[in-house]
Amino acid sequence: MTVRTRFAPSPTGVLHLGSVRTAFFCWLYARHHQGTFILRIEDTDRERSTEENVEAILDGMLWLGLQADEGPIFQTERFDRYEEVIAEWLEEGKAYHCFCSKERVDELRAGQMARGEKTRYDGKCRDRSDVEEGVQPVVRFRNPLDGVVTIEDQVRGTVVFQNSELDDLIIARSDGSPTYNFTVIIDDFDMKVTHVIRGDDHLNNAPRQMNMLTALGAEPPIYAHLPMILGPDGAKLSKRHGAVDIRDYREQGYLPEAMLNYMVRLGWSYGDQEIFSIDEMIEHFDIEGVNHSASSFNPEKLLWINQQHIINASAERLGQALVPFLEEAGLDPSNGPAPRDVADGFRERAETLRQMAQSARYCYEDFDEIDVKAAKKNLRPVILGPLKAVRDAFAALPAWTQDAIAKTIEEMAASFEINMGKLGQPIRVAVTGGSVSPPLDVTLMLVGQDKTIARLDSAIEFIKARALQAID
Ligand code: GLU
Repeated sequence: MTVRTRFAPSPTGVLHLGSVRTAFFCWLYARHHQGTFILRIEDTDRERSTEENVEAILDGMLWLGLQADEGPIFQTERFDRYEEVIAEWLEEGKAYHCFCSKERVDELRAGQMARGEKTRYDGKCRDRSDVEEGVQPVVRFRNPLDGVVTIEDQVRGTVVFQNSELDDLIIARSDGSPTYNFTVIIDDFDMKVTHVIRGDDHLNNAPRQMNMLTALGAEPPIYAHLPMILGPDGAKLSKRHGAVDIRDYREQGYLPEAMLNYMVRLGWSYGDQEIFSIDEMIEHFDIEGVNHSASSFNPEKLLWINQQHIINASAERLGQALVPFLEEAGLDPSNGPAPRDVADGFRERAETLRQMAQSARYCYEDFDEIDVKAAKKNLRPVILGPLKAVRDAFAALPAWTQDAIAKTIEEMAASFEINMGKLGQPIRVAVTGGSVSPPLDVTLMLVGQDKTIARLDSAIEFIKARALQAID
C-alpha cells in the first residue's frame, strides 16, 4: 500500500503550533514510508475562512519546508462533487431532507439538556416522504440506528462508539452548502487517503465519518489521533502561552528545522535523543513512537533546541538566514563582514538569529560608548603601553588573518610579560565595546583591520582622558 496522508487545515485561523505538529507528523509519516503528502484547505466555512489565513498557512508551510506532493486543494473548488454525492445519497435513501425549523431543533436541544440527556436530533424527518412547501430543507445523513463503530486508532487503541449515541448529521445546509464532516470524507475518499493523522479533538468525528465512508462504499482509512498540546501551566495551548502564528517564530529568529525538531518531540520520542536533523526525523519517525498522553509546550526547551540547530547549521545557510535580521537591526550586511562568517563566529553564543544580529552589531557599526563596567575594569592606564604596542603591530600586519592576529597578541603579551587574558580582554573591550564576544582572533577578523586599529586608537584616547581626569 502506498501511504497517502493529508493535512487539512481550515483557514479560519493561522498556522499555529498545534496545526504545525499535525502537518509535520502527516508529512513525516508520508516521507518515512515514501508516500504522498496532500495539502487540503478546508475552506467551506465561507464566513470564517479568510484569504489572509490561507496565505498564513501556505507561507508557514513553505517556511517550514513542508512541501505538499499534491495540492493545495481547496474544498470550495469541489462543490460540484459534493452536490453530486448528496444527490446520489438522497436518491438512494442514504440521506434525507429535513424540514425541521431551527426553532424546533433548538427547543429539542434545550429539553434534552434540561433532562441531562445527550443532545441529538430525534429523527423526526427520517421517514417522512412529503415535502413542506416554502421551507428550504437541510439534508441529513441517515446514520445507522444501532450497532457500534469501532476505531482501531494507531495512538488511542481501540475506541468503540455506539450508533445510538450518534444522530443524523446535517450534510448540506438549507442553502445547499455541504458541511464539514461530509466534505472531509468525500475528499479523503477521492484523494485515496490511507492515513488520517490529526488532533484528537477530531476523535468524536471519526465514527460519523466512518459511517459515511461505509455509505460511500469505501474502506475507512487508518486513524491516528494525536494528543493535545498543553501550555506550561497545564491548560490547553493558547495565545497567552506565546506566539500564535508560526511565522512569529520566524520573526523571532527561530530556524524552521528547530521548530520541527521541537514539534516532533512534543508527542513523539526516539530513545532519549533530543536533537534531530530533518533526515533523521524522516528515518526514525513512526506512529508507534507517538505518546498517548498530552504534552506540554516548553518555550525554554524550544529556545535550547533552536540554539543547538544554530550550532549545527552550515555557515552558508546560517549566513543567509541571518541577513534579514541584520537588516532588521538597521545594519547593512553588504558593508562589513560576510554574514556567513559572522554567523560562523557567533553561532556558539546565540539562541536566536535575532539575538545573533544584535550581538554582531559592532562588526558592522561603530559604537558610541564603551560599556561602563567593562571599561572600568579593563581600560586602565596600566594597559596603555601594551595596547599601543598591539595597535602598532596590528597596523604593520601585511595580511589580516586569524593566525597573524592571534600571533601578534601572543607576542605582545609575552614581550610585556602579562598573560594573554590580561591583554586580550582590554582589546576585546576596546574593539567591541563590551566584554563578551567570540574568540578574539575571530572577533577582530570580523571587525576588520582598519576598524580594529581605529577603535584601539579611541580606547587609547579614552584611557588617557580618564587618567587626566583622575589627576584633576
Ligand atoms: N479542517 C480540520 C481542522 O482544521 C481538520 C480536519 C481533519 O483533519 O479531518 O481542524
